[in-house]
Amino acid sequence: MKTDVKDCGSEKKLFFNRETAEKIASAVGTPYYLYDEKGIKNALAGLREAFRGLDFKEYFAVKACPNPYILKVLKDAGAGVDCSSYTELLMAKACGFRGADIMFSSNVTPAEDFELARSLDALINLDDITHIEFLEQHGGIPETVCMRYNPGGDFTISGAIMGAPGEAKYGMTREQILESCRILKGKGVKTFGLHSFLASNMLGNRYWETLSEVLLRLAADIKRETGITISFINLSGGIGIPYKPTDKPVDIFKVGETVEKKIGKICAEEDLPVPAVKAELGRYITGPYGVLVARCIHKKDIYREYVGLDACAANLMRPAMYGSYHHITVLGKENEPKTKVYDVTGGLCENNDKFAIERSLPEIEIGDLIAIHDAGAHGFSMGYNYNGKLRSAEVLLKEDGTFKLIRRAETPEDYFATFDFPGAEIKL
Ligand SMILES: *Cc1c(COP(=O)(O)O)cnc(C)c1O
Repeated sequence: MKTDVKDCGSEKKLFFNRETAEKIASAVGTPYYLYDEKGIKNALAGLREAFRGLDFKEYFAVKACPNPYILKVLKDAGAGVDCSSYTELLMAKACGFRGADIMFSSNVTPAEDFELARSLDALINLDDITHIEFLEQHGGIPETVCMRYNPGGDFTISGAIMGAPGEAKYGMTREQILESCRILKGKGVKTFGLHSFLASNMLGNRYWETLSEVLLRLAADIKRETGITISFINLSGGIGIPYKPTDKPVDIFKVGETVEKKIGKICAEEDLPVPAVKAELGRYITGPYGVLVARCIHKKDIYREYVGLDACAANLMRPAMYGSYHHITVLGKENEPKTKVYDVTGGLCENNDKFAIERSLPEIEIGDLIAIHDAGAHGFSMGYNYNGKLRSAEVLLKEDGTFKLIRRAETPEDYFATFDFPGAEIKL
């Protein structure tokens, strides 16, 4: 089950050096997440530029990096947000997002979440046909509704299986989408959209092109069978990033070009108006521009050599959960030969707690700072408190080279804050 995360060769570049990392460490302690404002802004700007030929809008998937300071950077650069829970909506509201700047793409949605989404006038993306009646009772049916489609079976690109929608809990069948259109129209909906998310972390440039075709063929069926025109398609997330030094990055301009061409072709064939295009990228926007910085606090030499960090899987779960590769740089030793083979671990009482397994690295000393790359999406946000481990600080490296603490580290008081138990008043 667990894939081996061996070293993938060449070094990956970082947006900061050891000196900066030490300066931040002396201000906020370790471990911490460091985000690159410039990198995030450039990723969003490139995406928008790549899709300039279409009526395009990115709604950043809040779950990838739910920090209001990051959301504010994205808002100022023209993005909306994609929320899927009550607290994500509250954060969006606090950042000043309203109405059509919020996409609410939830599933198994509690009543109060729909009510809050409607009170913010967010765009509602319905996961299921039964949610029509539920939404009607909890917030009411808006004039614009997006519907989430699940085509079932396997999702293939040029014959290769890329995902298994038939096993996914999301979205509606083709028949349910058609029926939903009729019901929603009867309830006064005027503007319709179609959404689907069929594969995750896709490298290669063809995922969205293929997905556009899936959604537009369905739009054509909807037009024929119900007379309803689909005004926008929501291609959602799923564009991947090169975690491994050997991975080829997605060419977002190529993606924009092929999506535009595909939409033009199918709309001409099916006699459909060209729809607006929406996206809910998370990983692509912040993933490469966030790094977990930790310090080596122990070394041990048994059947393998271990390097123990002050961060653990509770700070970054992806390697433990998915066996994901995250590149590791020993700060200040970027150019040293990789003469050692280490398992790089955290301190959870759980053997999955390894950031790297049998990774070739330069010799590490206790006290070295270690950078774990590509942790800017689904990193901090998947954190948890197992073994009483605390969440780290988050720091933004700003465009002008200064840094700002954008979330302080948790303290034991935070950990105990939800108890009301005599003797549990822990004082530092
Ligand atoms: C997680 C998620 C996204 C973002 O996915 P990425 O892989 O980070 O691009 C977008 N939309 C929905 C509905 C999601 O659940």
